[in-house]
Amino acid sequence: MSSERYERVMAAIHRKVPDRIPWTLWGHFPSIPFLKYYSWEKANRDGEELAKAHIALLNELDYKMDLLKVTPFYRYMAYRWGSKFRFTNNNERDETVDVIVKDTRDWKKLWVLSPKKELKENLRTVSILSREVGRRLPFIYTIPSPIVQALHGVSTPERVYADMGTYPNALKDGLEIIAQTCIDFGRACIDEGATGIFFGIGGGGDLWSRMDRNQFEEYALYYDKKVLDAMKDAPIKLLHICGNEQENPQLNGGLMENGWFKQYPVNAINWWDAYFTPCSVAKEIYSKHFCLVAGVDHKQIMRYGVSSQIADQIKASIEAAGEGGGFIVGPGCCLRQDTPLANFNAVAKAVEKYGRYNR
Ligand SMILES: [Zn+2]
Repeated sequence: MSSERYERVMAAIHRKVPDRIPWTLWGHFPSIPFLKYYSWEKANRDGEELAKAHIALLNELDYKMDLLKVTPFYRYMAYRWGSKFRFTNNNERDETVDVIVKDTRDWKKLWVLSPKKELKENLRTVSILSREVGRRLPFIYTIPSPIVQALHGVSTPERVYADMGTYPNALKDGLEIIAQTCIDFGRACIDEGATGIFFGIGGGGDLWSRMDRNQFEEYALYYDKKVLDAMKDAPIKLLHICGNEQENPQLNGGLMENGWFKQYPVNAINWWDAYFTPCSVAKEIYSKHFCLVAGVDHKQIMRYGVSSQIADQIKASIEAAGEGGGFIVGPGCCLRQDTPLANFNAVAKAVEKYGRYNR
């Protein structure tokens, strides 16, 4: 693929200087009230519904987004293994009704899901987007880290931490199956036309505050590397380092600022810079290794702020991390479903204003 937006995004991904800084915003688009009605629940079992909601969002914006991050219900694999979730009134917050792994011996119930069978609807979203927007717009699909899936959806934090203590091999057998499912599905996404993957670690909580460094390496990094190393052909591998006010990889163990994430075989990282590790600090630590994706506070400012506040924040982030390229403006996590359309447009407008490079 070659297009203006592809060239711009790939220059940033390769830590070079594009014509201007690219921008991206993501969220649970089928649940957004300012779009025509889409169903967040249906989007989990119907790939076309998810694709259509993403296309509708793109069409609604005043400016063209440079990179599209496709956001399915993040427990899509757990759902196919048989865990049950409840969605109410198109609220983006689901409720876990039942998980497939309740006892230690239940890890054996997992099998490697096929991208063409159990995950075919997820792959269908990729096929549709590839056909409809993929020639002009690079896009990446979300794959949560195996340990995050084990903690939230496949099983529960209680089960995972109990097994980590008493039956680590049973848990590891489960993580292997989840990792292989991620590999097969991720490769299928690339074959189907996705530009890359958005790999999330930490979402749902109960991770950064509950593991020590050795456990991170044994139960998270080991499987994450397996998945990411297998995505050799993916032009974009973006690591999303999820955190919140209660726990994040800087607050818990200082992992963010001691450079721990350099071990990840990715070419870009994304985190919530408004809350932990400001862009200027990350630029010093990580900019020789990764493209940085940050600058938009998805919580306070995007939900409740006005255009001028958004512009100020983006200007500041560009001043802190834009120099020399390798920077993409993006949010710290999913935008909430009540984020106003005007604030999506305010991000684009600010990037147009402050993100041009003089080449
Ligand atoms: Zn997140």
